Amino acid sequence: MAGRHFLQIPGPTNVPDRILRAVAQPTIDHRGPAFARLGREVLDGMQRVFQTTGPVVIFPSSGTGAWEAALANTLSPGDKLLMFETGYFATLWRDMAERLGLVVDFVPGDWRHGVDAAIVEQKLADDRARAIKAVAIVHNETSTGVTTRIPPVRRAIDAARHPALLLVDTVSSLGSIDYRHDEWGVDVAVSGSQKGLMLPPGLGFNAISGKALAASSAARLPRIYWDWTAMIKNNAAGFFPATPGTNLLYGLREAIAMLMEEGLAAVFARHQRFGEASRRAAAAWGLELLPANPDEYSSVLTAVVMPAGHDADVFRSIVLERFDMSLGAGLGQLKGKVFRIGHLGDFNDLMLAGTLAGIEMGLAAADVPHTRGGITAALDYLAAAARPALRT
Ligand SMILES: *Cc1c(COP(=O)(O)O)cnc(C)c1O
Repeated sequence: MAGRHFLQIPGPTNVPDRILRAVAQPTIDHRGPAFARLGREVLDGMQRVFQTTGPVVIFPSSGTGAWEAALANTLSPGDKLLMFETGYFATLWRDMAERLGLVVDFVPGDWRHGVDAAIVEQKLADDRARAIKAVAIVHNETSTGVTTRIPPVRRAIDAARHPALLLVDTVSSLGSIDYRHDEWGVDVAVSGSQKGLMLPPGLGFNAISGKALAASSAARLPRIYWDWTAMIKNNAAGFFPATPGTNLLYGLREAIAMLMEEGLAAVFARHQRFGEASRRAAAAWGLELLPANPDEYSSVLTAVVMPAGHDADVFRSIVLERFDMSLGAGLGQLKGKVFRIGHLGDFNDLMLAGTLAGIEMGLAAADVPHTRGGITAALDYLAAAARPALRT
């Protein structure tokens, strides 16, 4: 097909040319001095992205590997974990925890809400024996477009005076939605390269607090590849215990530079603008949003509910065939019921306008009942946001 493909799924995201060119550099000796400089640069840079002064480790893996590393390094067989059914990714992480031999108290959810901090506080207050070793939550639930606010969860753990670790999945929030590892008192953050960081898939991250590092020396879950100890020891000089994803690290260096040039605050504000414009488009179309609570709207993706009797996957396939645009599918129990608009990463106002135009044309082409004018509503909002501030 002529022209550029629109990859509007909430990860992997569009990889900017700057990063593709960086990745295309020759692979170097990962035990040599040039690599050590690259290693230290990306490790230091990722501390700035996570907003932490503690160690960050980088695995050649997807986000799923970083999930496993977070659990395996901090917990022991039979340990109790508090998790919340916010959607598909929270459910997958729960399944992994159980397969590792952990015991999960999985608070049921309707896949339209984030984590309720009041339930966190109640569960921990009730846990007199201090059997719960960690609270593990997903910051941005990519299957639903719901973002859980982390500070209230931290405050709930503190209010219960409970020693549980706080583990947070930031796979689809890091680099797109404000995330402050140290300030928010998170113990282990989990992330991946292919969403807000604008890289191809293939890198997994953990940001680690002092408390999590201390817990890791007593944790007895088996771990070899995922073990933080050898990683952190080698990282001190910029090296890795096994072969690192050298070319992806070139890309990561470029991605960090791009985020810092724009400024994290500006990056987050840009994503908020795309979220708001997309929601205005959906409202004008007369289509329902999946997230139930406006305080939890995600700025990296918008999940739109299909009208009854219409299959979201049929709609998505028409959009793909006719307009060469990939929209996110409904995952798990949401299959066919929602489509997800990814508006994160290397993305600007005109790309959003094109994305929303493709959706509005697709709704018409698929005979999905809707009101025209979603694009206009979004463009009015984007234009107002672009108007220079009045000078006095
Ligand atoms: C994408 C994603 C994952 C899974 O990461 P993979 O890189 O596919 O292994 C986990 N959690 C969230 C919130 C995600 O968006």
